[in-house]
Amino acid sequence: MFPKISGGDWLVVEDGFDPARANFWETVLTVGNGYQGTRASLEEGHKGELPATYLNGVYDHHDSTVIDQVNVPGWIGLRLRVEGHILDVKTCEVLEHRRILDLQTGFLHRDTLFRDGEGRETRVTSLRFASLADRHLCGFRLSVTAENHSARITVESALDAERYNLDRLPAWSEKPVLHPEVVWQKWARSRHLAVQGASVDAEAAYIEVRTLDTGISIGTGTVLALPEGARFLGGARDYERVAQVAEIEARRGMPHVFEKFAAIATSRDMPAGDIPRDVRDRLDAARRRGMTACLAESAAAWRAKWDACDCLVVGDPQASLAARFSIYHLLIAANEEDPRANIGAKSLSGEGYKGHVFWDTEIFLLPFFIFTQPETARALLTYRYHTLPGALENARANGFEGAQYAWESADTGRETTPKWTADGQNRIWTGEEEIHVTACVAYGILSYVTATGDRQFLRDYGAEILYQTSRYWASRLEWNAAEAQFELTGVIGPDEFHEHVDNNTFTNRLAQWHLEQAVAVFEGLAAEGRPEHEALLERLELTREEVARWGGIAGRIYLPAISGDGLIEQFEGYFGLEDVPITEWDQNRMPRYPAGHDHFSLNGTMLLKQPDVVMLTYLLPDAYPDAVKAANYAFYEKRTLHKSSLSPAVHAIMGIEVGDRATAELYFQRSAFVDLRDNQGNTCDGMHIASAGGTWQILVCGFGGFRVRGGRMTFRPWLPEGWDALRFRLKWRGMDLAVTVARDECRFLLTAPPGTIETIEVRDRAHGLAAGEEVVVRL
Ligand code: BGC
Ligand code: BGC
Repeated sequence: MFPKISGGDWLVVEDGFDPARANFWETVLTVGNGYQGTRASLEEGHKGELPATYLNGVYDHHDSTVIDQVNVPGWIGLRLRVEGHILDVKTCEVLEHRRILDLQTGFLHRDTLFRDGEGRETRVTSLRFASLADRHLCGFRLSVTAENHSARITVESALDAERYNLDRLPAWSEKPVLHPEVVWQKWARSRHLAVQGASVDAEAAYIEVRTLDTGISIGTGTVLALPEGARFLGGARDYERVAQVAEIEARRGMPHVFEKFAAIATSRDMPAGDIPRDVRDRLDAARRRGMTACLAESAAAWRAKWDACDCLVVGDPQASLAARFSIYHLLIAANEEDPRANIGAKSLSGEGYKGHVFWDTEIFLLPFFIFTQPETARALLTYRYHTLPGALENARANGFEGAQYAWESADTGRETTPKWTADGQNRIWTGEEEIHVTACVAYGILSYVTATGDRQFLRDYGAEILYQTSRYWASRLEWNAAEAQFELTGVIGPDEFHEHVDNNTFTNRLAQWHLEQAVAVFEGLAAEGRPEHEALLERLELTREEVARWGGIAGRIYLPAISGDGLIEQFEGYFGLEDVPITEWDQNRMPRYPAGHDHFSLNGTMLLKQPDVVMLTYLLPDAYPDAVKAANYAFYEKRTLHKSSLSPAVHAIMGIEVGDRATAELYFQRSAFVDLRDNQGNTCDGMHIASAGGTWQILVCGFGGFRVRGGRMTFRPWLPEGWDALRFRLKWRGMDLAVTVARDECRFLLTAPPGTIETIEVRDRAHGLAAGEEVVVRL
């Protein structure tokens, strides 16, 4: 009745119910498909739960401090009563509880045995899914077994529109330790939904809401298919909740199977008037096909995804599991069918960062998508095109020309960074100062175009973004007449411990790179001489003289001289700061803040939150000699606290590149297990999705040593001791490359039209790959 579960290195397992860990599991076991993400709350709910469904691109401001990714009506609710006694973790004894997320199929399996106050034991198993074949469809199959009794069991299958987002925390002088059952109740919440209508009968339940500020209509419908012998009791309405209620005389030892289908549609997808009908049609179609077929269709869609992107560590099942867990969460975060949505910093798995989009997308997530599913990468970048008007408005509001991408972006591209921390204690300056994000968008576009050869994207969207953002840099850069150079003052680099700094090398160098690339793109497209390009130049009133000026500016941007021992100063004055040593580490071997310090007190020290110069040497692999990379890695790694989950991945990759391999392995562990082991202690707020993307990059770009250099795929592989081999696949200009890195050899198999020859480099030596012929390179 229930599909077979995959082998061990595909499974994430929760064993036993622990209220203190419940919110962690809600995040980790999220099911989704890029259109929606649903946290793994228990169907019947429990005190202290943090349930949510998020829909990609559905944001609302209304009464919240900054715009939220809306917690929309929930579809998983299902309450069971045995002779009127509720079955849940609070009222019953939980004799057994086990949930398994099968990463291969996207199915979440549950098996719980309850004992109620009367000594009756009832087993509940379920299989939950969000379909990858029809992203609007989700549901579960549920089986109830009265293990040691026969009883009347009622089932209440609900849709719940009483949903809020968390907004602000009270400012405590000393942070209290709160019981897991009440911890979320201390938050001020924001309301984003108004119920427009609800209906329920034996056939279906339906609820429609509208977001209060953005006016998005969201329809959610559900049907419950009953087992033989069960009967409908009718519908129930309880404030903003509607439910279908049924009952069955359960026979001892006999599983009774209920099937709940749910469908979701919004006015982002279709005219609002069409939503009720669309939802009904989807539910009808799903019921006609049956649950087994719907599950099989979704599993088949998952298989197709995995075929393109699985990454396997032979000889280390834990590492394989961590890799697949990361990939699973990347896959459920993105939707190639929606070029107006992106990926928030916690994906669709939690409310941290309010679903806002950061540089995380281009720098940490995009490589995975570019090289395994370019169509998704294209959609993610097209979001930047659709939010270009917001970026133009950001620049204008700040007194600049062109387009400035928001540090935190939501539906329109306007800046949405909060000005204060959630407890109101500290001012946040990233929205004003962390301006490198604009160059990172350009970096994403050009990486995509190089890897895919999709020049049409460049013509239709990329060029316009590059030109408008170059205008921003040209107006933002400040001319220092005394030094005869362009500067950027008052910025924050990737290392956010240092605010209001001048001439952050990362930002200056990427702004320079951005302008240089824009000039090159302009020259290439101008040489093509297509009328669309001419029309674009006309529409933007962009002249050759203006582009030439960008080139001139790029050449005069201040960059610090590299010191005699190869060091690059992170920003002006950094080397003069107090050199506070790191002396304590936590149980995960992560550095602790030095005594008396926190995130907001390190401006005057050399300590880093995350890589900055080291990040730059990763992003521009050919701009710095090996010795410079090594010197900076050695210097800055010692001073980095890794207080961002983005940090370890870059240290793993650069550690491997510069030969600090033991440390690199440690950083791989930190990145790969950040959520599986809750290393940062805040997985309950949502997945560290950038770290998941970073983990894929460690495998492919770190251990696989993959970089694109001079328009070619190049590899400098290296495997840790305990690994037998590493396998991954890369998409490249419409072709597919299967790579196996073993201890003493590398294997490459190119799938491409017959006759294709592609040249790659392995440890700086060129090799020709012919389509369909495996090439073995001895290491
Ligand atoms: C992050 C910033 C972000 C801010 C507000 C901080 O924790 O480090 O990048 O802008 O929160 O969301
Ligand atoms: C990091 C940023 C990142 C943000 C969202 C912050 O803690 O410092 O680099 O963009 O989190 O993931």
